[in-house]
Amino acid sequence: MEDKLLAFRFLTIQCRSCGCDFIISPTEQEWFLKTRLSIPSHCPVCRQERKLAKQQATQGQGGERDGS
Ligand SMILES: [Zn+2]
Repeated sequence: MEDKLLAFRFLTIQCRSCGCDFIISPTEQEWFLKTRLSIPSHCPVCRQERKLAKQQATQGQGGERDGS
């Protein structure tokens, strides 16, 4: 009876980038399983930053910006 409740718990994971602890909710775990993605090892903040950095790197390939 408790099996389903015990299957997904709040997971505390330490971010590999900044070392902070972040929580993966049972709902998120289920979603990661459904989408066959692995549980992230970076906190949402770092993931967002990496995503932005990636986007910028992709954009930068077309031509460099001077910044001004
Ligand atoms: Zn982090």
